Amino acid sequence: MVEKKGQRNIYHCESCKHEIVTENMNDGVTPFMIGCRSCDGEMRSGMYPKSLDSKQYGHTYITTHYWRRNTEEEIVAFKEGCKGDPGKIANDDEVRNWMVNRACYDHAKNGGMMLINLDGTKYE
Ligand SMILES: [Zn+2]
Repeated sequence: MVEKKGQRNIYHCESCKHEIVTENMNDGVTPFMIGCRSCDGEMRSGMYPKSLDSKQYGHTYITTHYWRRNTEEEIVAFKEGCKGDPGKIANDDEVRNWMVNRACYDHAKNGGMMLINLDGTKYE
């Protein structure tokens, strides 16, 4: 299911109660669970609750992160980063790097968006 540009969502951590509010900069796909930003727990999607944009809870939720599609250049870079046979790479850091690039490439190719902090820091 493709989610729409402009939709806002909330991710909530069961362990530490931390929350982030996300906004989609493009149409695309976002994950149901992401790593928590303030502990090692997992944050779950609030499934785009309508209440995010209502004032009934006495406070307004401000967008803290955004999701955007990878650019063509980024996708090409991911593809370059997972060339060749990982079984022939002797260095563990390089194997890890290959795997990250491969995962990012598959994710981006399938419409997956990446999570970005408002200061431009990329997460996943
Ligand atoms: Zn947490």
